Amino acid sequence: MIILLLCVVLLCPTVYSSDASVEWCYHEPRCDSTTWSKNVHDYCSGTRQSPINIVTSNIMANSKLTPFNFTGFDDNSTFFSIGNTGDSVVVSLDGDKMTVEGGDLPSKYTSVQFHLHWGNGSSVNGSEHTVDGKRYPMELHIVNVHSKYNGNAKAAIDAKDPNGLAVLGFFVEGSSVTSKSKGWEILTSFLPNITNSSVTTTDIINTTTMNSLLEGVDRTKYYRYQGSLTTPRCNEIVIWTVFKDPIKVNHDLIQLFSTTVQFKGTSTKMANNFRGVQNMNGRIVTSQVASAASSTVIALTFYILAILPFICWL
Ligand SMILES: [Zn+2]
Repeated sequence: MIILLLCVVLLCPTVYSSDASVEWCYHEPRCDSTTWSKNVHDYCSGTRQSPINIVTSNIMANSKLTPFNFTGFDDNSTFFSIGNTGDSVVVSLDGDKMTVEGGDLPSKYTSVQFHLHWGNGSSVNGSEHTVDGKRYPMELHIVNVHSKYNGNAKAAIDAKDPNGLAVLGFFVEGSSVTSKSKGWEILTSFLPNITNSSVTTTDIINTTTMNSLLEGVDRTKYYRYQGSLTTPRCNEIVIWTVFKDPIKVNHDLIQLFSTTVQFKGTSTKMANNFRGVQNMNGRIVTSQVASAASSTVIALTFYILAILPFICWL
């Protein structure tokens, strides 16, 4: 079990860096995200990079974006461990129990881990994607691997498969209501145990579920585009799904992330671990929005129904 966990943590860190010699960071000018496209040519200077700013007026309607089928999201035995990778907090998942399919994904995908990106206290928001320029306090990424790679994210990376990973992105918004944040209370209760980089604990097993963390989100409404990992080597192998509804989490719990855990090899608090938005380079974001044609039909129907009594009366 311990060896298995070690493999999961080593092979599936938030960075998925296939080359450990690539030095990158969030918090020092010499290696922060503004340097990645220069220092990590493969692939951070590519043309299908993530995250992006989603411009809602440019979204194309896509009728194929049906609801997903989530398996194991209500099972409290699916969280293997929670760890500090030095650049994020990562929860390793039991891919034998957790899968995602539907939603126009080309296959069933195995859920291998989720991790988070955040800002700094209540003053700086830290989601990676933005919507019409709006940045949310945090973003949660559930990383899922195409079924043909048997849960091995590195195999998907090595294959340079543009459909290799399907990442589900959830915005986190601050709330003053505490009752809705039970799963987040449990999740954040482990942060004091993983303040230092490379520390992992399995105490999270059997404590909560993925659904508990995603409570209140309408998972049938989402944006879709083709992009990359948001950390070096920024491999362009990700089908991105970004849900419109944010998860509502108590402000105090959100702040625990930037005040508790530390960056790799330092006593510096881990804050602002998000990458800036990247150029679209002609890419299109699609969603379930009603097409212009169907909107016109609906408007016309309402109009006719509204004037019908008057016509009949005449
Ligand atoms: Zn991420």
